[in-house]
Amino acid sequence: MIIYDLVCAQGHSFEGWFDGADDYEKQHRKGILTCPVCGLVEVHKVPSASHLSLKHPAATTDEQGRMLKRMHEYVERNYENVGAKFVEEARKMHYGEREQRNICGAATWSEFKELREEGIEALPLPARPVAKGKLN
Ligand SMILES: [Zn+2]
Repeated sequence: MIIYDLVCAQGHSFEGWFDGADDYEKQHRKGILTCPVCGLVEVHKVPSASHLSLKHPAATTDEQGRMLKRMHEYVERNYENVGAKFVEEARKMHYGEREQRNICGAATWSEFKELREEGIEALPLPARPVAKGKLN
């Protein structure tokens, strides 16, 4: 019994169990190997090493993208967007000139560092991921 990492023409990866290398070749030739996700018969074997390096970055990017989207949605709901006034507003709040509230906005990396040095809690929020359909 051997296990092969297989990938279909649509990029779904899955495991195939065979009696041996011959069995894989036979099933492949007959076209009875199909992708369990989309049913495509265009399936081929992936060497394990490249399988790993192909699979992981994609999964991580997807996960990060989802997390980022949730973060942005949370911030949009719970924080007042003060845009370019962020640094100014954060300082005023810190020094008691403004009522404390949740704000978000734009700051450069060095402005952000200055805020932290003054003891002002600020977190950088990575840019919102671009929706796949919007590329190009
Ligand atoms: Zn597929």
